[in-house]
Amino acid sequence: MKTDPVSRAEELRRNLVIKEHLLAVDFSGTLQGKDTSKVIELMPNLRDGKLLYRTKINIKEIDPFASKEYGVEFFDTRTKTDAEIEEKVKSADFDFPLWFKHSKGFRMQDILDYNSPFIVQVAGCNFHDGTESGGCWYCFVDDISNDGLASKGKSYVSAQEVLESMVSAQSKLRRNYEQKNFTYNMKVLRISGGEPTIALDWILNLFREADGKRLGIVGQFDTNLSTGHVLENFKRRGIFDKRILEQLAEYPVKVLAAVKGTDDDNLQSNVQASATISSQKDSLIQLVKAGLDIYPQMYNPNPKTLDSFLAEMDKAVENFSLRAHIGPIKLYGPMVKRLGLEAKAKGIDAEKFIDSKMAEWKSNYARACEILNNYLEERYKIGYKKTTRADVRLSVLNS
Ligand code: SF4
Repeated sequence: MKTDPVSRAEELRRNLVIKEHLLAVDFSGTLQGKDTSKVIELMPNLRDGKLLYRTKINIKEIDPFASKEYGVEFFDTRTKTDAEIEEKVKSADFDFPLWFKHSKGFRMQDILDYNSPFIVQVAGCNFHDGTESGGCWYCFVDDISNDGLASKGKSYVSAQEVLESMVSAQSKLRRNYEQKNFTYNMKVLRISGGEPTIALDWILNLFREADGKRLGIVGQFDTNLSTGHVLENFKRRGIFDKRILEQLAEYPVKVLAAVKGTDDDNLQSNVQASATISSQKDSLIQLVKAGLDIYPQMYNPNPKTLDSFLAEMDKAVENFSLRAHIGPIKLYGPMVKRLGLEAKAKGIDAEKFIDSKMAEWKSNYARACEILNNYLEERYKIGYKKTTRADVRLSVLNS
């Protein structure tokens, strides 16, 4: 049976935020922690030394350490012009550092500062039913880290602790990069998930505190675009302020809006939950209307319905397709485990099942990039990844 994302979010909320503390993932000993600490180690919470923070080097080529670790050609931003750097970044799989192009203090030459965020991860997702193989098939989060239970592998943190821990990590990393003659000042604080919008009040408080302390950091949070109704319910019940989204939009915070499907079947089979295209669209519109800076990122769209989906979204949100990206799906430890369990339940060979899933996702990715490119060429006379997404404004046309 598929998970109901609305009732699951309500259930998760009971544990996720308690007395201004967020239930965050402790990455020690997790497959995800192992996957994401190859270049920069997991970072500790200053109060108790627990490993609650990680980073992800978004564009490996522009980072001196990541390019070496992943065996890709190094693109030395110190020797490039602003235009060359922008061209390189916008054509990458993840153009995240460019999202901050219009933020106060951004300089193209400092793009490394925006390339590896300090990440705290909400320990529960409403697409996840709490079982061993719940959540999106391609989710890179360990199941225990996503079940929302206040148990081993998670810890409660305050906004204050997160900020103190980030400041400490910033100085340590700055020294490491300086030894290689690079300047680096980790600027981005990202709230990942799990589903961060269930803990939006905690997130607002975090960015308020960061702003009050004048730390010069910018923010990002992720959403799976299934919580429009949940936000409405929380506002009605007084859990969230009625203007919480507008208040959040006052800070330099970007939103990674994960578009998990282009038709109901595609969406529900990707996420194992009863989310719909209509609720995905409504959730997105709520965020755009509030003035938040949204970056839609599609994961495993159905090539057969992508074109009509884009046309429908462009009718509702101006420039949606020009802002949309398609995220590649890479194989991580928790995915191997989840797919392996599914293969076991089906009584089929795990290795073959994983290979076939990866082949399907790879093929959908390649076809979807082509479809998006053709759609944009036809409609706007510009190819996919030829625009800098931060330069494109979104607005609600018809809800
Ligand atoms: S929405 Fe994100 S965190 Fe939740 S199950 Fe899917 S990939 Fe994992």
